[in-house]
Amino acid sequence: MKKKISNQFFAHYLVVLFLVFLATVLAVLLLSFASQLASNTFAKNKYPASAIMQDDYKQIDAAPIVQNGGSVQVIDKEYRVVLSEGEDAIPQKQLTAGEFTNFLVRSKSKDTPFHHDILYNPQGEFWLIVTFPASIRIDFAFTMNNKAANGDFGKAALIFGAVIVVYLLLLAALTAIYSKITASQITVPLRKLCDGTRLLREGDYSARVELRLKNEFAELQNTFNDMAARIEREISLRKKSEEDRRRLILDISHDLKNPMSSIQGYAERLCQKSDMSEQERDGYLQIIHQNSQRANRLLTELFELSQMDSPEFSLKREKTDLCEALRQLCGELVPQLERAGFEYEFNIPEESVFVLLDSERFSRIIQNLASNTLRYNGQGTTVTVSLTVENNQAMIDFGDDGIGIPAHLTHDIFKPFVRVDDSRNSETGGSGLGLSIAKKIVEAHGGDLTLFKGSDKGCTFRITIPKI
Ligand code: ADP
Repeated sequence: MKKKISNQFFAHYLVVLFLVFLATVLAVLLLSFASQLASNTFAKNKYPASAIMQDDYKQIDAAPIVQNGGSVQVIDKEYRVVLSEGEDAIPQKQLTAGEFTNFLVRSKSKDTPFHHDILYNPQGEFWLIVTFPASIRIDFAFTMNNKAANGDFGKAALIFGAVIVVYLLLLAALTAIYSKITASQITVPLRKLCDGTRLLREGDYSARVELRLKNEFAELQNTFNDMAARIEREISLRKKSEEDRRRLILDISHDLKNPMSSIQGYAERLCQKSDMSEQERDGYLQIIHQNSQRANRLLTELFELSQMDSPEFSLKREKTDLCEALRQLCGELVPQLERAGFEYEFNIPEESVFVLLDSERFSRIIQNLASNTLRYNGQGTTVTVSLTVENNQAMIDFGDDGIGIPAHLTHDIFKPFVRVDDSRNSETGGSGLGLSIAKKIVEAHGGDLTLFKGSDKGCTFRITIPKI
């Protein structure tokens, strides 16, 4: 059975109350025992009237009582005060019968600051009054007389039992209310946390818990909210990468479809048409060759990209002078640039800048950037390559003043198959993977490749590699 926290609290409080009740009974018993012990040592109990009583009142020794702060009076049958030692309990010398009766009645009252022990001596026909100032009085007494009438005893027991039952019921009701209130301090935050967890389980990753508390539940709330935020982030990342993967497959099949159908079409025609001129056949074969080259390039680059994503991928890095390596690569670019009618400007410092470099992969980055510049821009474009060092980072800016890349593609341009416009690409034959590959290589060097300046008037890519 499901145990509710408020019920458990109620049960615990009942046990505590029962123990308190037991402790109270024990305390009362101890108190009455202690008061008994104490009262035996009080002067009034040590020197009762009976202790000093003599048949002849003149022989009564009042000294110990007076020494202990008490007083002794003797009243004869004519109500005369015939002996008075210590402080006067009865100031008059002669009393009337009424006055003496009043005194006797008053002497029993617990409101007076004196304790009177009065004893009548039938032989001497006098009353002996021993008076002590009252000390501490603990009035708690449960008196039960065995000789009481049966009916009285039953009634008293009934009333006593009823009082105890009402008292216990009241305690139980108060306990129930109190346990509900105290349990709610646990059950309310728990319920909110449970609701949050349930929402999370049902797929609502935006679920958060707000308790407005400062105790341990606040810690639990923060942990829960952190966890929910992390799950939400992971799920959205997973969705995004799932979406990226789906788009990638779509792009691959789309990009492979064109060259493959073209190859298939021209190959079929070659097979079917036997009366084909030499020139016509060469034309077909050239188209087949171009398209198979295109498909091959796409597959090679795809293979390269997926290789870089695999955990086994590693670079062959060596301590290299980046200036020297870049100078060499730029030198190799010059013939291509000149053939295409491009201008060029290289600003590479003379002094060495050492980095850990996989030279082969690094040349791939520069080749990709250069082939893009050549592919997408026309005659007269100026290519600028410069190398600077800032904050222990070597920075290569590779730019041109050509048609540029729109600023809104600054980040997305590095994703596979993202192109400024597809028609531009189909003419130029690019795979849409060049920048993705280049970025991955730079990242593997501990650096980054960014589109530093993207606009309609050319673009500049920045390669950052940590210096050693
Ligand atoms: P692609 O194989 O299509 O060239 P990339 O990843 O290398 O693939 O480049 C992505 C896109 O970025 C290109 O399709 C092109 O639209 C654009 N691009 C890259 N470099 C340049 C550049 N220097 N000038 C203009 N556009 C460029």
